[in-house]
Amino acid sequence: MRTLVAIHLIAGTAIVAGCNSAPTGQSTAVAPAAGAPAETPTVAMNTTINKSDEEWRKTLTPEQYRILRQKGTERAFTGKYWNTKDEGLYRCAGCGEVLFESDTKYDSGCGWPSFYAPASKTVIAETEDNSHFMQRIEVLCAKCGGHLGHVFEDGPQPTGLRYCINSASLNFEPKKAEEK
Ligand SMILES: [Zn+2]
Repeated sequence: MRTLVAIHLIAGTAIVAGCNSAPTGQSTAVAPAAGAPAETPTVAMNTTINKSDEEWRKTLTPEQYRILRQKGTERAFTGKYWNTKDEGLYRCAGCGEVLFESDTKYDSGCGWPSFYAPASKTVIAETEDNSHFMQRIEVLCAKCGGHLGHVFEDGPQPTGLRYCINSASLNFEPKKAEEK
């Protein structure tokens, strides 16, 4: 048991060092929150963009490819948008779909862009991710299947959710100054 705990700690801190760390220091695994509405954890994906691996390699930067197509994770506090507070839209870096809007972005302190809700429920797909000795819910772009990050149940109201998203999976489009 001691060995298992040690492995778990290493996985949590070194390998992923990732979206798993809640701001409160809460530990890794996502357990169904008590009293949370009984929702199915998996949302079907209806991918409409099917590019070959070679095509993705050509159109994405190496970092975007590593994260979107190989389910990578950028290091905390290193991405472009973790501290962005400007108004605008966050589009999928793979296909351009609007995934999140700035008014649902909040400062979770975790080092990745965090949102309490997606732009709409249909743009996001979810699937169980049991890698790295953790049970997490992976979040993907429903249109192109690109890996975005994970969703946790420690977010603020009204949803109580925290969509912890890699900056590299997003392209921010600032709201135009002339729009009033
Ligand atoms: Zn996409």
